[in-house]
Parts: sequence; structure tokens; C-alpha cells
Amino acid sequence: MSTATAPTHEQIALIGAGPSGLAGARNLQKHGVPFQGFEAHGDVGGLWDIDNPRSTVYHSAHLISSKRTTEFAEFPMADTVADYPSHRELRRYFSDFADRFGLRAHFRFHTRVLRVEPVSDAPGTRWRVSTEAADGTRETAEYKGVVIANGTLAEPKRPRFEGRFDGELLHTSDYKHAELFKDKRVLIVGAGNSGCDIAVDAVHYAKSVDISVRRGYYFVPKYVFGKPADTLGGKRPLPPWLKQKIDATVLKWFTGDPVRFGFPKPDYRMYESHPIVNSLVLHHVGHGDIGVRGDIARLAGHTVHFKDGSARDYDLILAATGYALHYPFIERELLNWQGMAPRLYLNIFSPRFENIAVLGMIEASGIGWQGRYEQAELVARYFRAKASGSPKAQALRAAVQGPPPDLSGGFKYLQLERMAYYVHKDTYRAAVRNAAAALADPT
Ligand SMILES: Cc1cc2nc3c(=O)[nH]c(=O)nc-3n(C[C@H](O)[C@H](O)[C@H](O)COP(=O)(O)OP(=O)(O)OC[C@H]3O[C@@H](n4cnc5c(N)ncnc54)[C@H](O)[C@@H]3O)c2cc1C
Repeated sequence: MSTATAPTHEQIALIGAGPSGLAGARNLQKHGVPFQGFEAHGDVGGLWDIDNPRSTVYHSAHLISSKRTTEFAEFPMADTVADYPSHRELRRYFSDFADRFGLRAHFRFHTRVLRVEPVSDAPGTRWRVSTEAADGTRETAEYKGVVIANGTLAEPKRPRFEGRFDGELLHTSDYKHAELFKDKRVLIVGAGNSGCDIAVDAVHYAKSVDISVRRGYYFVPKYVFGKPADTLGGKRPLPPWLKQKIDATVLKWFTGDPVRFGFPKPDYRMYESHPIVNSLVLHHVGHGDIGVRGDIARLAGHTVHFKDGSARDYDLILAATGYALHYPFIERELLNWQGMAPRLYLNIFSPRFENIAVLGMIEASGIGWQGRYEQAELVARYFRAKASGSPKAQALRAAVQGPPPDLSGGFKYLQLERMAYYVHKDTYRAAVRNAAAALADPT
């Protein structure tokens, strides 16, 4: 269906042309739901386009999940593409995906969504969407609905430390290239996936590199028996206790015990937090290139005092402390924020409003872009069913009002901000696919 011909109040406004927004566009297009996309940057690809000012990838960034686990099923990457492609390759991939399905024509680029608000309190209300183009032109129009796909890894969470630091204090979102570390004494705070990647980068430039950690981690190698680690394992998911036991044993064989390398022992079981897919950091700790330090107590001049009583001087502290969910264009209560994240059915649908959905608000080990694509398929089928007056759309709404499904897969996730919207990949994808299957035929 052509977006050009439909008036805005018959269209869905789609925010963002990253992987989730592209999946949204592709599915809305495929299911004949009229929509208008908005992208603040000049092209598709989201954070995988390093030139996007909101991109949080750095020059050395590669996929953490392997390409076959991550790619869109209907658009596989070429066999010639590496198992863990770089951000450059991925930018090309999303550009090719947009070309293949003619998705760019559906977006207004250099157009930022400033505000999204319901026209009334009615559950089926239209939505007023205000935008700003690069030349400053502002527009407001009423849309039938809104799909939000503005990403989850752009708004830095900057830690507050006691005391004052006289060196540079940066966040991973400020980091692009390891030259930044040239001849400096560097402290990376946090050993998440970005923190470990960047510590490994820093080794080649910095005078010294330390990493400060508050808790223990499970370090998963990218390859096991010469194959991407996330492609191994049977098709049928194992019960949590068995998977934790088997995978923790495999880790002991391949990466050893991180405690031997100076990391604290994890006080939680494997998969109860996001695993760190990086064995190079242990390699470099083992070579004395990276020192492992405890939690920071306070800062004084160039000195960092750690809680274990030790102290060391640094020129640069880089906080690898993650990102916060950020939907600045919409009031929090409209997205049903509760605590650290919006509480949405399947992390997608608002309990209160029928015509608003969020894509990409999921964190999970190995969910990939196909996991986001399946979300988009469900949303597109829902809007199509709703437009045709199908009772199946009402059935979904009834489920949205009902008790939330358990998406944890039986794992007890740590109560951290980052884990507030964490799901178990297989459980989650099955739930989304089932909901989409129930909407398959709108008649
Ligand atoms: C270093 C790194 C490694 C990663 N590795 C993996 C991996 O291995 N596997 C994996 O699955 N995921 C990985 N990710 C996660 C990554 O977030 C997803 O792959 C993917 O980019 C999420 O897509 P998205 O479309 O939801 O968000 P984004 O890619 O962030 O795209 C959001 C888009 O919305 C636009 N936008 C934002 N606000 C507005 C607005 N107000 N108006 C208009 N447009 C707006 C932005 O410009 C952007 O283009 C990694 C992330 C990082 C940083």
C-alpha cells in the first residue's frame, strides 16, 4: 500500500531506521499497513552506521552474536561475510536490506521525532506526532498509531563517583578509536561486552590498562571447537539447570576459571546476567597487559582509591557502565514505565493504548535481528487485523490486559537496570511467534 496516498490519520508513524525500524518497515509494507517512517540521521542502519551521531559503535566493533544467529532470516548474509562481521559490513548489510525491499522510500531522513502524544484518553486514540527536519522546519500531524524503534543503546548511564578526578572521565559512548588511549594510564570501569572490547583495544595504545569490576563474570569464547559458540547446542532448549551446568563446564574447559585471572567469583549462576562474549580479555590479563581491580571507593586528583584499600594513578577513566532506556519524546506514564523500564506486553504493547507499540526493547543472549523482525511481524499483523475489524486483534488486546507471560525461561535474572527488560531468547521468540500465528489470517 502506498504511504504517499494515505492521509496521515490512516498511517502508522514509525520512529527509527535501525535494525528494528527496518524490520518494522519491512513488515508493515509486507502486510499492507500504511506507514510513514522518521529517521533523525541521514540513512538506515541505526547504531551500525558509525557516522550516525547517536551511534555507540567504535572502530573495532564487531558482532558479538555470530552472523547466522543474528541476521534477518529472509535476508541471509553472504557466505563470504565473516562469522562476526565488523560494523562496516553491517552498515552495508542494512543498506542492502533497505535497497532489496525499497524501504528508504518509506522514511523521511534527517527528521527527528520530538513529541508523541495521544489525541485523547480513549484506548483507540490517534496520536499527534511532532517532528523537526534538519533545516529546523517543524511539523505536527495526527497518525493512526505509532511504532517506536529508536534503540536502547544510545543514552549513556554515567556513574557518579565520590571525589574529583583531574584526568579525563569519559563514557563508552564517547569512544571511537583506541588512539584516544595513546600513552595514557587507563582505567576501564565495568567488564560488560563493550568494556572488555575496549580494554582489549586499549592494550595496543595505552601506557597501562586496568579494569575495575564490582562482580564476577562468565566469559564466553567466540569460538568453540572452531565454530561460533552460539551455533552449537541442540535445537531443543535444555532446562535451565542443565544448560547452566553444561555450559559452565564447557567454559571451564575453554576459558578456564576467571578467578585465577583475578576476577571475583560470580555470586550468581551462568545466564542470570548477560554473558560476556570475549576471551581476549582473559588472554591479556594472563599476559599482564590488563590489571583487574575492585570497585572504586573515591577519586582524588589523578588517584583512584579502590574499596579494597589499594590506590593507583590514571590519566583517563572510561566508564563502560551501559545505557539507559530513553524515550524522550513521550511521557513515561504513556509507556507504562514501572521502575527501570516500561512494562509492556511481550515488551511491545501498551496495556492502555491500542495503537502504540515498541520494537527492539529487548535484551537477551542471542536474540538477533530476527528476534526483532518477529516482533515487527506481530505488530504488523496486529495492525492489519485491527484495520479489518478482525476479532483476532481484540483477542490480542485481551491478552495484553491479562497476566503477563513468564519470559524468563526459568532463569532468575539479576535485579539490575540492564536486566529490567531482559528475556529468555527461546521463550520470548516462541511467545511472539505464537501471538503472530494467532493473527495470521485477519478474516
Ligand atoms: C558494540 C555493540 C555491539 C553489539 N553487538 C550486537 C550483536 O552481536 N548482536 C545483536 O543482536 N545486537 C548487538 N548490539 C545491539 C544493537 O543495539 C542491535 O544490534 C541493533 O542495533 C538494535 O537496533 P534498533 O533499531 O533497535 O536500534 P538502533 O540501532 O539504535 O537504531 C535506532 C535508530 O533510531 C533513530 N532515532 C532515535 N531517536 C529518534 C527520533 N527521536 N526520531 C527519529 N529517529 C530517531 C536513530 O538515529 C537510529 O538510527 C550491539 C550493540 C553495540 C553498541
